[in-house]
Amino acid sequence: MEEFHNTAFPTISGDLMSDHFQFSDQDSLPKPDVEILTSSGLRIPAHTGILALASPVLENVIERPPKHRSSEKTIPILGVPCEAVSAFIQFLYSSRCSEEELEKYGIHLLALSHVYLVPQLKHRCSKAVGQRLTIDNVVDVLQLARLCDSPDLYLKCMRMLSSNFKAVEKTEGWKFMHENDPFLELEILQFIDEDESRKKRTRRHREEQRLYMELSEAMECLEHICTEGCTTVGPCDLEPSKKRDPCDKFSICEGLQLLIKHFAICKNRVNGKCTRCKRMWQLLRLHSSICDQTDSCRVPLCRQFKLKMQLEKKGVETLWRLLVKKVASARAMSSLSLPKRKREEPRETMHDHGEAETMRPYC
Ligand SMILES: [Zn+2]
Ligand SMILES: [Zn+2]
Ligand SMILES: [Zn+2]
Repeated sequence: MEEFHNTAFPTISGDLMSDHFQFSDQDSLPKPDVEILTSSGLRIPAHTGILALASPVLENVIERPPKHRSSEKTIPILGVPCEAVSAFIQFLYSSRCSEEELEKYGIHLLALSHVYLVPQLKHRCSKAVGQRLTIDNVVDVLQLARLCDSPDLYLKCMRMLSSNFKAVEKTEGWKFMHENDPFLELEILQFIDEDESRKKRTRRHREEQRLYMELSEAMECLEHICTEGCTTVGPCDLEPSKKRDPCDKFSICEGLQLLIKHFAICKNRVNGKCTRCKRMWQLLRLHSSICDQTDSCRVPLCRQFKLKMQLEKKGVETLWRLLVKKVASARAMSSLSLPKRKREEPRETMHDHGEAETMRPYC
């Protein structure tokens, strides 16, 4: 076998080689039978058996009949720093790569792991490079992620670009890409546009959910006030002396109590001139739409609204039905996730006539 240290090129140091073999008994390994040639001329001795096992591409290279006799035992890995090639070969031997190597040569190792089909290393490099993304390198890394077919890294770069576009636009990387790769620029701008719409949709959805949740909580408070009473407002058959302490959802409950107090005395309650009363009517109607306790319900007008809705079933607007559905599902969600307000056992006496006046401030 050829003695590698006698070649005209420098060879890798004994220390580095020993790193390759840290998981096996160095003495038990046969002598290296191939050299990896790097751009700087450094030659790294290696074993074809190990290289072929770790990388199907290297396996092909090793099994391919040599074109020239002189190149028989040399595999060139060029275009990346020799330290990156060394770290790459070390990974093929040990499946290990230090954080320092990933920090320094992450992008080169990503390219090598893609070209030589080493998925384990590719995964680690995608992650490591993604963790070290900066405004300055994001455009370059994006191009690399595209070339190396690394979807996670690609998405991470696109998101960073989208959130920091003004700053990225000023970088050398962007300027170069802008002049040389209009297709990538278009791809980025399209992503940013879709990302904006996606964010808007999410925001709108969150706002809607918040509204439905608030309405659902208001419904719960309404039932609680009309059934057991809370501080100064409650059903008229409930003794004022039994008035309750503020409940644990008093921030919502209090607002509703003020609305009820107003509703009880407002002169414009029925003629539609008062927006506060309109709101109260809507809450009462909404309650009736989602209430399933027709016989025992103590919320005023619950049954009247139900009857009215049955009579005009076809006339109920689609939007209202949708609102009812959304609030009902928000209510179901909150009953799953939130602790229930402590409730008393239902009282025996039931009110037969649900009128607006049955709910009033205590005297
Ligand atoms: Zn309350
Ligand atoms: Zn009013
Ligand atoms: Zn009801």
